[in-house]
Amino acid sequence: MDTTKKNNPVYSTTDNSKVTMSEDAWKKILPPDVFSIARMKGTERAWSSKFENFKETGTYYCAACGNPLFKSDTKFESGCGWPSFYEPISAESMINTPDHSHGMQRTEVQCGRCKAHLGHVFNDGPPPTRLRYCINGVVLDFEKAKEAENTFNSNEK
Ligand code: FE
Repeated sequence: MDTTKKNNPVYSTTDNSKVTMSEDAWKKILPPDVFSIARMKGTERAWSSKFENFKETGTYYCAACGNPLFKSDTKFESGCGWPSFYEPISAESMINTPDHSHGMQRTEVQCGRCKAHLGHVFNDGPPPTRLRYCINGVVLDFEKAKEAENTFNSNEK
């Protein structure tokens, strides 16, 4: 866990109780880039995410609160410029909200625990869900799967 997380009292990958805080309180504990996307509904530049061509096995968490969001095996190359997944870790892990901003009809995806803005979900993804969760990498934390789990899941080993 880096220093940023140590300074974030609500960050937990195991506590799934809802987090409600004022924007001022969020501003004090989140790094500026995370705050601007998670709380101000910003969008990172396309192709700017370190997770864009990232293929490690593990779990992605909300960078604002630690809520588990996606398993790496649901990540796929969408070519859209943002990390893309076809299925959330659970039905409760995120909230879908209609978004009519910028003259478009889209569905916004928020963290189910802290309501951080994560990105949008579209209906043009791969099977089995046909969904494309187009997510800002800045609001994702990644944790590599434990070695034993890797070995267990890998056919090559
Ligand atoms: Fe969150």
